Amino acid sequence: MSSMYNAGMHSKSLEVLKSIFGYDSFRGHQSEIIESAISGEDTLVLMPTGGGKSLCYQIPSLIRPGVGIVISPLIALMQDQVNAMQQLGVHAAFLNSSLDATQQKLIEKQLVDGQLDLLYLAPERLVKEQTLTLLSKIDLALFAIDEAHCVSQWGHDFRSDYLTLNLLTERFPDVPRMALTATADQRTRKEIVHRLSLGQAKFFISGFDRPNIRYAISNKTNAKKQLLAFLQNRRGEAGVVYCLSRKKVEDTAAWLCTQGFTALPYHAGLSPQMREYHQNRFLREDGVIITATIAFGMGIDKPDVRFVAHLDLPKSIEAYYQETGRAGRDGQAAEAWMVYGLQDVVRLQQMQASNVSSEQFKRSERNKLDSMLGFCEDTKCRRQLLLNYFGDDAPEHCGNCDNCQIPPETWDATEAAQKVLSCVYRTGQRFGVVHTIDVLLGKETDKVKQFEHQKLSTYGIGRDISESQWRSVMRQLVVRGLLQVDVDGYGGLLLTDECRLVLRGEQNLLLRKDNVAASKIGGKRKSYKTPVQAEHQILWDDLRECRKRLADECNVPPYLIFHDATLKEMIDSRPMSRMDMLTITGVGQNKLDKYAADFIEVICNHAERES
Ligand code: ADP
Ligand code: ZN
Repeated sequence: MSSMYNAGMHSKSLEVLKSIFGYDSFRGHQSEIIESAISGEDTLVLMPTGGGKSLCYQIPSLIRPGVGIVISPLIALMQDQVNAMQQLGVHAAFLNSSLDATQQKLIEKQLVDGQLDLLYLAPERLVKEQTLTLLSKIDLALFAIDEAHCVSQWGHDFRSDYLTLNLLTERFPDVPRMALTATADQRTRKEIVHRLSLGQAKFFISGFDRPNIRYAISNKTNAKKQLLAFLQNRRGEAGVVYCLSRKKVEDTAAWLCTQGFTALPYHAGLSPQMREYHQNRFLREDGVIITATIAFGMGIDKPDVRFVAHLDLPKSIEAYYQETGRAGRDGQAAEAWMVYGLQDVVRLQQMQASNVSSEQFKRSERNKLDSMLGFCEDTKCRRQLLLNYFGDDAPEHCGNCDNCQIPPETWDATEAAQKVLSCVYRTGQRFGVVHTIDVLLGKETDKVKQFEHQKLSTYGIGRDISESQWRSVMRQLVVRGLLQVDVDGYGGLLLTDECRLVLRGEQNLLLRKDNVAASKIGGKRKSYKTPVQAEHQILWDDLRECRKRLADECNVPPYLIFHDATLKEMIDSRPMSRMDMLTITGVGQNKLDKYAADFIEVICNHAERES
């Protein structure tokens, strides 16, 4: 039966891409994936966030006879996805617990009458006998299993309902299945194949890289000041600022508001109504900043998040990559910015130590944190480090991270390290960073006098280096495991076995120079592109205003009307007719009919004023 669709299939999918979605060409593996699905094959699709997974099942659902069933774990996202489809003029609906009986009946009727192209279902709904019976009565184009990694018991998003999806093979042997995910190391991948019986499926694996995201990490000196410098050129842009604690989330939001930003807190301690309200404002208004704990993110599909800032260190590279990955889904330039300091390291280590869990679990958590710290301190290209960590190849230089743009210097810190280590030793391995530095700098503090540390041979031997440099040295010694923080006690510093070689002068130590200038780069970099050039600012604002008005009328987020990239293309090519409009990326037939006139009016008015 597959050959039936083969003839002219490629041109058919291209035609759909253009007329419905308004896009000119496929990206990456999209075209092959779509062809496979149309010809009835099972597929496994691994693509990074923003890679364009949705099109892979949407287009075959439109082209194959019958309805495409999309299985998604996030009920909260279904409305958004269905809205997006309806904006394109596609007949889509969802069935979940948020609908009342009458609404459900209506959708079931549409389904049976063949009026739907796409139906979104949560897995627990799908595997109900009632649903299965309903589906067996109609033509099915395919099953798309979104977020397929939820089937993995090792992953952090495990859903037991996903395990039952196996029954699709028995109940619907002739309907092609497509499993899609953005997070898949080898182990998860194997599990998906095994648990969803995808042994016969074709694999389409794209790299993890997110080339439009710029990575930058610097040492924390004054976090608020650093954040402000970073945000200064980004007024009016949407972003997320992650903090570790609820209190800090609240404080940071309040403080950003005093600085003239629209910032809203989000954490698990807020009421569900409040969280939803803040999330909706973030989705629907332009330029809102969300300050959040890690409770925020899953289920946010906002494509135009321009930056993700971390004021505290994530506990693993996996977490860092997932959180920063929420920036720039639309493929436009975005920033992953972070500041971190020794205090973060100590706090995370303490949190891990106080966790009641098995030794094995603790060790694995500890290893993950160590990898994260090593990543922060490394002088190599950030992207290369990240991709290698996930098992992908990468070029040595990406040119779009802080380490590539301003290569960090290193210095021979052997002598400095020896001073720190012997000072820790002589003070009895019971004091923390602050006191150790006081002794090195020869400060006459009460504590120094109380313990008579002015009599030690290490008192004042570190006056050649500044306090912030000492902090940098100590942070790096902790990260490299030459010093250990006594996390069970009061945060005193301890020597480790590994430090002996350095202490005895048998090993040289190269450390990263903390570049004070580099921490400001995020704020005033020449290579950072503001969304539009200054001379286009007025038109840009007018177009955004028009988009916001239309979005409010339809009660959807602005990005469902047009993406930023589409508005930017309008600025570049100034379409003044429907014909011109159709050439703009992201303008398909339905949106042309609904919105083109409004935007053409804005552009024409602008042209008149300019002439
Ligand atoms: P994912 O689910 O992989 O994170 P999406 O399916 O949401 O990604 O796609 C990300 C964005 O890229 C969407 O806004 C989508 O419309 C856009 N996109 C996808 N494919 C193309 C394409 N071939 N040309 C232009 N834009 C595309
Ligand atoms: Zn790089």
